[in-house]
Amino acid sequence: MAKVIEKIHAGGKSVPRFKRVLVKMSGEALMGAEDYGIDAKMLKRIAGEVREVRALGVDIAIVIGGGNIFRGAGLARAGMDRVTADHMGMLATVMNSLALQDALENFDVHTRVMSAIRINQVCEDFIRRRAVRHMEKGRVVIFAAGTGNPYFTTDTAASLRAIEVNAELLLKATKVNGVYSEDPARNAKAKRFDHLTFDKVLTDRLNVMDATSIVMCRDNNLPLRVFNLGNAGDLIRIVNGENVGTLVDNDGAAN
Ligand code: UDP
Repeated sequence: MAKVIEKIHAGGKSVPRFKRVLVKMSGEALMGAEDYGIDAKMLKRIAGEVREVRALGVDIAIVIGGGNIFRGAGLARAGMDRVTADHMGMLATVMNSLALQDALENFDVHTRVMSAIRINQVCEDFIRRRAVRHMEKGRVVIFAAGTGNPYFTTDTAASLRAIEVNAELLLKATKVNGVYSEDPARNAKAKRFDHLTFDKVLTDRLNVMDATSIVMCRDNNLPLRVFNLGNAGDLIRIVNGENVGTLVDNDGAAN
């Protein structure tokens, strides 16, 4: 049976279940209805949800991918040197991060972009203590440029940064409402899991995040929740402790 996290109530008023979370969004999430790049409407919607989470007093950090612009592996398949291609991919994540910062600032949400590669005229360098301080001051922190290293992904960057800044939960935003036994877009009979272990994700090669990031979560006991960013309000429900999407952790559950 899946363990349902109960909402905490203080004096009849619900308070967020988590103090600090990190949300991983793919670059494609920003694409919305477009084929490439950034959909302004989608960006605004995402920024609005982030603002609501911040308004609850929850520290929120974000890692954004770059797949809506460039992916290193794709460029390498087309003949480009892989390391150069990955540098381009990382720069794509910086562009997405700046776009989200701009959208958040339009909502008067104080935001800092911190990059894993030095690009000082554009944003700050990632310095862990400074990132934590920003969050303590109520700023949203966007971690750009992944891990700063080629051959990695922004999923791994999300696990790494979440662990570094002591986030209690990693939230992986996807287009479906959790982890399925198969691709639900291809097989209508695909089963959605409520609660899984990291080991099951690895053994069954379930399509959640890449193996490096799953191993990092497992070894550092960082719970992960997979949810659909397209479902308005799910982000808020999760930080309030509702059982939305799929929880992946080390506790185990019968599935
Ligand atoms: N990337 C990288 N190192 C990292 C993170 C990302 O080299 O630590 C590059 C890689 O080329 C990747 C691209 O940045 O394809 C965009 O990131 P990702 O594919 O994770 O974006 P998403 O699929 O989440 O949009």
